[in-house]
Amino acid sequence: MMQTIINQLKRHQTFLLASHIHPDGDAIGSVLALGLALKAMGKKVQLFNPSPIPMVYRFLPSVLEIKQTLAPDVRFDVALVLDCGDIDRIGAEAVAICKRSLVINIDHHITNTRFGDLQFIDVNACATAEILYHLIQKLPVQIDCAMATAIYTGILTDTGSFRFSNTNRSAFAICEKMIGLGADPYQVAQHVYGTYSLGRIKLLNLALDSLEISPNGKLSVMTLSQRMLRETGTQAEDIDGIINYARRIEDVKVAALIHELCDNGTAPRGKTRYHVSLRSDSGVDVAKIAAQFGGGGHAEAAGFSIDTTLTDLKKQLMQLSEAFSDACEAV
Ligand code: AMP
Ligand code: MN
Ligand code: MN
Repeated sequence: MMQTIINQLKRHQTFLLASHIHPDGDAIGSVLALGLALKAMGKKVQLFNPSPIPMVYRFLPSVLEIKQTLAPDVRFDVALVLDCGDIDRIGAEAVAICKRSLVINIDHHITNTRFGDLQFIDVNACATAEILYHLIQKLPVQIDCAMATAIYTGILTDTGSFRFSNTNRSAFAICEKMIGLGADPYQVAQHVYGTYSLGRIKLLNLALDSLEISPNGKLSVMTLSQRMLRETGTQAEDIDGIINYARRIEDVKVAALIHELCDNGTAPRGKTRYHVSLRSDSGVDVAKIAAQFGGGGHAEAAGFSIDTTLTDLKKQLMQLSEAFSDACEAV
């Protein structure tokens, strides 16, 4: 399949590269790495993400080439959808454009719906950037410092700095090569993890204050509202990483972070739209839980969005927690 995709990349001229809403380092790094590689091959590329690029990733070379809007009548030979378990995660605007292109789905989520005309899905890859490294190596291009920095950032962030269970030998081997090609680990770490705005610290304080633990101690829940974001002058991107505090608590098997979304116009009367992030350390498969609610992700990091009331949502999560045992084979 990799070869088929490579042939298509060589054959065609115009490419759309898109990744998921509320992008993380892997979504952004993947679009940049492959986008720059195709550009180096003389192709015409358009990089897209439906959300603004979080401040912490704005240091990445060529990141401003990732646009948040697309001309409605624009056409591409190929649409590359990267780091998305579901095509809807690139937003309606890009999905509409995909209808007129050959769609190539490259991803590592276990819940991937296998959308598109061609797929390369490796659930053992630590990041989509890992898959793209192997792909770019087979293209007639040299990985330069900008591509190396993008790949390095994708792997560093998706493995939680080489701490999550998806951390594999390739993560280290590829990152070692990327450093050899010019990626600067200290610079990347400084940008991604080194500085917090005061608002982000205040938001963390509110998140820690919102912590609730299920009666059996196995589930931790944090809740962040739009009001909290307003009061601290923060954005949705500042929530990234906060859930890890809830996951680290002793005896907790699953951590949930409920985040009230601002696109509430779409929620039915009396309900609010929430995004729920789920994390588990081992044992509980949170991708399965997220899939039950129409979302997806990985066994240990998943999410879903839902129109509901906060009371109902917390009640549902607390009920689920009753199945989290010490052995935790239940879910
Ligand atoms: P999050 O908790 O939003 O940081 O997401 C954790 C993981 O689950 C990431 O790999 C996301 O790509 C994935 N994910 C989050 N929300 C959804 C969703 N609604 N549908 C599919 N995958 C999701
Ligand atoms: Mn991602
Ligand atoms: Mn990823």
